Order: sequence, then C-alpha cells, then structure tokens
Amino acid sequence: MPESIYQKIGQVERVIGINGGTFDPVHFGHLRPALEVTEALALSQMRFVPVYQPVHRGQPGQSAQHRCRMVELAIERQPLFCLDRREVDRGGPSYMVDTLASLKTDFADAALVLMMGMDAFAHFPHWHDWQGILALANLVVTHRPGQTLPEDGEAEALLEARQVDCLTQPQGQILDLGVTQLAISATQIRQGLSAHHAPDFLLPERVADYIQTHQLYYPS
Ligand code: ATP
Repeated sequence: MPESIYQKIGQVERVIGINGGTFDPVHFGHLRPALEVTEALALSQMRFVPVYQPVHRGQPGQSAQHRCRMVELAIERQPLFCLDRREVDRGGPSYMVDTLASLKTDFADAALVLMMGMDAFAHFPHWHDWQGILALANLVVTHRPGQTLPEDGEAEALLEARQVDCLTQPQGQILDLGVTQLAISATQIRQGLSAHHAPDFLLPERVADYIQTHQLYYPS
C-alpha cells in the first residue's frame, strides 16, 4: 500500500473511501474534498453512493436515475472515483450501516473509510446504528482548515473518544482532516436554478449541461 495516514495498518490490502449524499445535484463542494481525502489517505478508490431514500432528511427533488447520472458525469475523468448504485438498487430507506455491511461483503480484503463534512458529523450520533457504522469503518470528518469541531455534546464526546492523528485500525477511529472546503450547497444551486440563475462554476460543466438538457430544477 502507498504511504498514507493509513500506513500502519497491517493485513489490509486496500482502503476504500465512501462518499454518501443526496447529490441533488453533485457539486464541487463534494468533489474537491473527496479528491483531497483520496490523496491524503492514498485510497485505492472513492465510491460515490447516492442515497435512495434518506432517513434523516426529506426526499431528494430529482429521481435516483438523474442524480446517479450527474455523479457519473462529474467523476468520469477521475480514475479513482466511481459511482456505487447499491442504495438505489436496494431501494427502501438508505441506512449507511447496511451499505457498509454490503461493501464489506463485496470487498472483504479492504478497510472502509466513510467521509462526511463536519455538518453531517454533528448529527452522526443520531444516525441509525452509528455504533454499527463504526464497527465496520473509520470516519474521516472533513472541514475547512482552521474551523473548529462541533461543540454539540454527543458529537464532541464521540470525537474525543475516537479521534486519532493517524488511522491505525481498520475501523472504529475518527480522523479529522482539513480540506479545501468550498461554500457551495446543492440547496443554493437548486434555488439559483429555480430563479433561472446558471449553476456555472459551482459544479462540473458536464453536469450543468445535463441539468440544462433535462431542464432539471427549473420552475415548470
Ligand atoms: P443540500 O444543500 O441539498 O442539503 P448538500 O450540498 O449539503 O445538499 P449532500 O449531498 O446532502 O449535499 O451532502 C452530502 C455530504 O457532502 C455531507 O457529508 C456533507 O457534509 C458534504 N458536503 C456537502 N457540501 C459540502 C461542501 N460545500 N464542502 C464540504 N462537504 C460538503
């Protein structure tokens, strides 16, 4: 395995990153941190997993097919990135613990690392079976360099208990990684489009073209 924050782990052939989200639509705020995590941890791949039915928020506005296609277009020139449709194919509520268990079955030789922004981590102690998630994977919490971690009781306590400077185990640890974070949100893009504002420079050009071709997010 190449030199990485993971170098001390024995008996692990490779490390696979998981980037889950609604991707409604995917944007540079998802893509750039994913690349930086991939490089910092020398991951063998980063799997983008569009959620089918979120359990902690409302249904995405666009169909799973459109959201998957936009991810595919966004990542097609990045060889270590791939689209993983397992939550969409599974249907029903998308529990991350089920997704990780199924990845563990498919990639028995790999350690899994689930990336999430600090905003998502603040709610992590309320996720379905978060203990099960940590029994299957490590977490990488990405944030803007210099930004402080949440001072919300449960997330902070979990971080204190599990945070490490260097991942040394295949699961159960939390790494806090400063990345170039772009203040872009899918909400902002959807709101812009509904007011006929172009999403250019917030997401890849091919995704902007797809949105335009299919008239996604525009007012009907
Ligand atoms: P929405 O605005 O619809 O809530 P979003 O832009 O936050 O969407 P999601 O697909 O819900 O995107 O995000 C999934 C993951 O991506 C979360 O872990 C979140 O922290 C992370 N993320 C989203 N936007 C950014 C960003 N600008 N920088 C870093 N991480 C981000």
